Amino acid sequence: MPLTANDPSRKTWLDTLVNTDFPIQNIPFGVFSTPDDIITIGTRIGDYAIDLGALHQLGYFDGIDLSDDIFMQDSLNNFIADGRKTWRLIRNRISELFLEGNSKLRDHQEHRNVVLFMMNEIKMQLPVDVGDYTDFYASKEHATNVGSLFRDPENALLPNWLRIPIGYHGRSSSIIPSGTPIHRPYGQTKPGDNGIPGFGPSKLVDFELEMAFITTDANQLGKRVPIEKAEDYIFGLVLFNDWSARDIQAWEYVPLGPFLGKSFASTISPWIVTLDALEPFRTNGPKQDPTPLPYLKHGENKNFDIKLQVAIQPENDEETVVTNSNFKYMYWSMAQQLTHHTVNGCNVRSGDMMGSGTISGPTKDSYGSMLELSWRGQNSVPLKNGKERKFIQDNDTIVMRAFAEKNGLRIGFGECNGKVLAAID
Ligand code: CA
Repeated sequence: MPLTANDPSRKTWLDTLVNTDFPIQNIPFGVFSTPDDIITIGTRIGDYAIDLGALHQLGYFDGIDLSDDIFMQDSLNNFIADGRKTWRLIRNRISELFLEGNSKLRDHQEHRNVVLFMMNEIKMQLPVDVGDYTDFYASKEHATNVGSLFRDPENALLPNWLRIPIGYHGRSSSIIPSGTPIHRPYGQTKPGDNGIPGFGPSKLVDFELEMAFITTDANQLGKRVPIEKAEDYIFGLVLFNDWSARDIQAWEYVPLGPFLGKSFASTISPWIVTLDALEPFRTNGPKQDPTPLPYLKHGENKNFDIKLQVAIQPENDEETVVTNSNFKYMYWSMAQQLTHHTVNGCNVRSGDMMGSGTISGPTKDSYGSMLELSWRGQNSVPLKNGKERKFIQDNDTIVMRAFAEKNGLRIGFGECNGKVLAAID
């Protein structure tokens, strides 16, 4: 099916800024509550939030096979389960409706009144009910840096890393939408000289710059997803801040890996940008050496060129951009991650979320966590207000941004924000 919605020459009759993350070629999906507190599924063009439940009721999706209440839900799980053909039909139809010159909705003021909201009138919700969340560890630079810092610089990458997309099962209940503050977590930390572990609020709260992809039903229990089909089951991506407490993590992670140092919160950007919308930004990932086993081997252009940025904003102060990275640095592609995830027959369901792992680039100004930027607290990261940070302090807001840009077309994710509040007594 053609992706007419991706046509870069298209313009919309809505007022949009030139540099918006959400031009008519984006058409992401999200869930929001209206000023009347009605929860609905929607999309966004420029600074307009568009109620897809209302559009559907008014007949604007006639001819597309949809259940009546598909958009009047508090999550996208059922819509995502409808599969790729339906996602494409809906994106293409929305694009037609808002295309410059199409008067059908443009000149129908009554309909516009119930379909269109300004972004500042609505409240974004979690877009999916995340059943299972898996976090990978797919940036070679990050894995090398962390291996050097936590273990041994001489053998920073463990032998399995270049063979397997390493991951662990995370906690989905604490995934929260952008704008939700978190409290500094409590936990145990490494014992001091007296042999007794420390206990209290984490002193080393950190962000991890990640993207996450959201799947549809990919396979039945016991079946595998072949690599050439893997992308068919990826609905779209969000920005993902995998908050981490490094002192809790350092004490608990042997031998079973991350646990409470990670599970206290993970923040996502609220609009799911479809894999279809990112089609123009395909690129090759890093060269894979050694060659992956046959079940993980795929062709060209399975990575995506998406610029990533993190800023720290202290309370009532200006922000400082502390890193610029790129999603293309992922050593293991999303297709490889999903294929590997199902190789043992584990079933992946609609609304499952797979984090990429921290995406660090090759240079010191492209590292995706404070752990790496401060080299475990050895260096300070300067802020514009004259202060500095090694890790995140109370009342700091972490702002993540992501966008792809090529030949004048920009497809973005908006922001993924989270403020760290003091620990609760
Ligand atoms: Ca992570």
